[in-house]
Amino acid sequence: MTDKNQEKYKERQQKVKEQVDQKVAQATIEQGILQVITGNGKGKSTSGFGTVARCVGHGMKAAVVQFIKGTWECGERNLLESAGVPFAVMKTGFTWETQNRDTDTQAAQATWQQAKAWLQDDEINLVLLDELTYMVSYDYLDLDEVIEALNNRPKMQSVIITGRGAHRRLTELADTVSEVRNVKHAFEAGIQAQKGFDY
Ligand code: ATP
Ligand code: MG
Repeated sequence: MTDKNQEKYKERQQKVKEQVDQKVAQATIEQGILQVITGNGKGKSTSGFGTVARCVGHGMKAAVVQFIKGTWECGERNLLESAGVPFAVMKTGFTWETQNRDTDTQAAQATWQQAKAWLQDDEINLVLLDELTYMVSYDYLDLDEVIEALNNRPKMQSVIITGRGAHRRLTELADTVSEVRNVKHAFEAGIQAQKGFDY
């Protein structure tokens, strides 16, 4: 780099630093964050579990609620339960397998009771509500009740909701919303779900 380029580089970096410093100075609110991870692409639940690992790695407390994943083996559960993370797993498989609305609703409601208890526990820093969006879409859970529980949670508690087709009221309420877009997926090319990668 010539001296002139070096000088320009320094100037540009200085500007970036000023902008970042200003934004950091503006972010003064201390509170838990509500995140919604939605969309049709792969990476919603794994992202949520990544944040659980981040939380637990700091010696903080996390709890996981899994809606509709009852019959699936879950690698994250094996690991995180041994690290002391409590799990509540809905005791039914995928809805298109069970095809019984009453038992599905009961299962969702029972799991939601545990979720609600954790959403009132200020010892828990992070609650992952994996695949909750479907419970709202299928009307297994009352959206008003879910929103009330989210609004009344402890101030410092963060919550992550995953699942496709998140209801607009959930994305409006959330502080951070990410939509994972499907560009392509191995399954569409006939590749089976892989243990240690897909579950
Ligand atoms: P992951 O748990 O891998 O982060 P996800 O939570 O984003 O995935 P889900 O809709 O919950 O996605 O799907 C769970 C399973 O379905 C995973 O095995 C995942 O690989 C697979 N899957 C995710 N997206 C797609 C897709 N677009 N087409 C086919 N299969 C998918
Ligand atoms: Mg998922």
